[in-house]
Amino acid sequence: MLSEKELSRYSRQIVFPFLGKKGQERLKESKVSVLGLGGVGCAASLYLAAAGVNLRLIDRDLVELNNLQRQILYSEEDVGKPKALAAKQSLEGKNSDIEIEAVIEDFNPSTAENLVRDVDLVVDGTDNFEARYLLNDVCVKQGVPFFYGAAIGAKGVLTFISPGETACFTCIFPNPPKPGSIETCEVAGVMGPSPGVVGVLEAVESIKYLAGFGSNLKNRLIYLDLLEASFDEIRVLRNKNCRTCVKREFIFLERREKGKYVTSLCGLNAYQVSPTINLKLNLADFSKKISRNPDVRVQEASNEILKLLFEGKEVVVFKSGRIIVKNVGSEERAVSIASRIIGF
Ligand SMILES: [Zn+2]
Repeated sequence: MLSEKELSRYSRQIVFPFLGKKGQERLKESKVSVLGLGGVGCAASLYLAAAGVNLRLIDRDLVELNNLQRQILYSEEDVGKPKALAAKQSLEGKNSDIEIEAVIEDFNPSTAENLVRDVDLVVDGTDNFEARYLLNDVCVKQGVPFFYGAAIGAKGVLTFISPGETACFTCIFPNPPKPGSIETCEVAGVMGPSPGVVGVLEAVESIKYLAGFGSNLKNRLIYLDLLEASFDEIRVLRNKNCRTCVKREFIFLERREKGKYVTSLCGLNAYQVSPTINLKLNLADFSKKISRNPDVRVQEASNEILKLLFEGKEVVVFKSGRIIVKNVGSEERAVSIASRIIGF
């Protein structure tokens, strides 16, 4: 049942005939996990909270000044705070009628199953392929639908994955890209509203799915090129030999496939993050690209080694893709920095 206040708060979408009172009641009963609270996750959760959807907000990172250009839930005083908490506070100010759970946790094989438990839907706001294969494994295993969404530069991509019904992430992308072959926002840059467009579309599609109206993005992958102001659609098909949604081999969840290893270098107060294969990076080229980011100071660059100051942390990148992050408080933080540099 909706209270008087809720009837008034949501009156404009209740009067919208496709949603109506029934749709609003469905939204009130629903819960969505927003996995990753960057540019995509911020925009998606803002509209979901406003529409009356209960949320679980998940992110391991802290707000940085360089996030504010696109991560619209945070303000200047949030810099240094955990993103999950800052996002919860920001959204509570917009809608106190919904339940918001903040989870400051890394999404990995040991936490993944709990983070998508008891939700109707997951919205992907992650920033790397490994996390998405893991999300796909856990959602297919538990039968939880999710939106895959990503943005970089002025481009974005989006699709809806309903386990057992649509193509899953592995059907669409059978093999992980080679680490280092994928650009990151740190290296390629990002136009602020690009992840916002993807996040808002994820919210639109989530509201339609939860309230039960409209058509959806099943087996359709949308590509946005905002530089050209173009939207393209690609039909995607289920692979009848898919290892994940047909054979139910959850190799990312069972840690059989891992893109990187982390070791603590105790004496140095540093962590080493190593890819499982030699990436044979062209460091001269890489150094040229990353030095365009004003948050990065290249201190030394050769064919074998690249020394950087990244968000105030000393980082050493080797040709093989091995990365050392010095004076960093935790393993999660080191992995976060390494994956934002290399795109693990
Ligand atoms: Zn599949």
